[in-house]
Amino acid sequence: MSTNDAMDVLNSTQHTIREALIKMGFGEEMYELLKEPLRVLTVRIPVRMDNGKTQMFTGYRAQHNDAVGPTKGGVRFHPDVTEDEVKALSIWMSLKCGIADLPYGGGKGGVICDPRKMSFGELERLSRGYVRAISQLVGPTKDIPAPDVMTNSQIMAWMFDEYSRIREFDSPAFITGKPIVLGGSQGRETATAYGVTIMIHEALRRKNIPVEGARVVIQGFGNAGGYLARFMKEKGAKVIAISDAYGAIYNENGLDVEDLLDRRDSFGTITKYFPQTISNNEMLELPCDILVPAAIENQITMANADKIQAKIIVEAANGPTTPEATKILTERGILLVPDVLANSGGVIVSYFEWVQNNQGYYWSEAEVHQKLEAILIGAFEKIYDTHLKRDVNMRLAAYMTGVRKMAEAARLRGWI
Ligand code: GLU
Repeated sequence: MSTNDAMDVLNSTQHTIREALIKMGFGEEMYELLKEPLRVLTVRIPVRMDNGKTQMFTGYRAQHNDAVGPTKGGVRFHPDVTEDEVKALSIWMSLKCGIADLPYGGGKGGVICDPRKMSFGELERLSRGYVRAISQLVGPTKDIPAPDVMTNSQIMAWMFDEYSRIREFDSPAFITGKPIVLGGSQGRETATAYGVTIMIHEALRRKNIPVEGARVVIQGFGNAGGYLARFMKEKGAKVIAISDAYGAIYNENGLDVEDLLDRRDSFGTITKYFPQTISNNEMLELPCDILVPAAIENQITMANADKIQAKIIVEAANGPTTPEATKILTERGILLVPDVLANSGGVIVSYFEWVQNNQGYYWSEAEVHQKLEAILIGAFEKIYDTHLKRDVNMRLAAYMTGVRKMAEAARLRGWI
């Protein structure tokens, strides 16, 4: 995201937090407490590159609020990471934890880099360097990182190993999204997509649309978009378009999802294998039942909100829709399931992973799914209810639900 876009995202998040607090009867002091993270650490990380030269990388870790408990949230590796973006993302993590009623506040990290252009060894050295740089600030009872855009279970494994070496004891609860053999949870890798699938179900039910034959458009073919395509296909829906950072593939009769999954690379790149592609923007405007932005921020904006032909939008990505676009979509009667609810499956199963690490007792995938479904369906109902009863859009309803516990915890601790 550009610096200006990131500033806009942070400003609009703050604006919606303020609106939510006012609706919930909290005052200006509470807004002052919650509008920014309590802590943001900027680090510079020297990494020995394969050519023998040292390159400096800049990284961040933001801890929004720890009134409820330790902070929690992913680390992204992306060339466009900015401090404001990481701050906004940490606020969203607080909201997700509040919505799912997890005993955490929000945190987020990011490193400015392009993993697509780095070797395995360079990525390992960067991951370890980042952990060394932030090690004072994080830990199983302080702040627990996880995967995010372009970071995966291998990177979590290196970070876990580095942290354990620094502390001189095995510390699996320091980080979530680890490989299963290192204490990862069953179902964590697919959790975001699984959660989005549950949310799509709830939304379809409210709109009286059967899942069988429903047309789905997915922007992004990484962890969330890829597994989501598979789950929707398994449920009998028709995935008609999928995109990556370079373009989109469209077939009105439904794509061969398994074939695409086989062919994509580890960053979700797929369109290069297909000469006939449509643009990402054209794809967003296709007629469909469900549109799932599963890539990056600011995709549905003033420029295209009135051209969207979906009946339901479920935000698998963080921040894909601007506030102005949210307003237009709501007025047009499109049911929007906001990011802080829709993609919270990831952090919910991360919480399960942390619980399992702390107790040293591991659950089956069925148990994980059952617990995840219970939390997500309950959260959807609460937010949908608030949306109807308080006559606010789904995003504001989600923010209202998400800030409540944090604000009350801060008040009870005597911070306000
Ligand atoms: N990065 C994911 C998110 O944005 C997951 C965070 C976590 O598992 O802590 O929700």
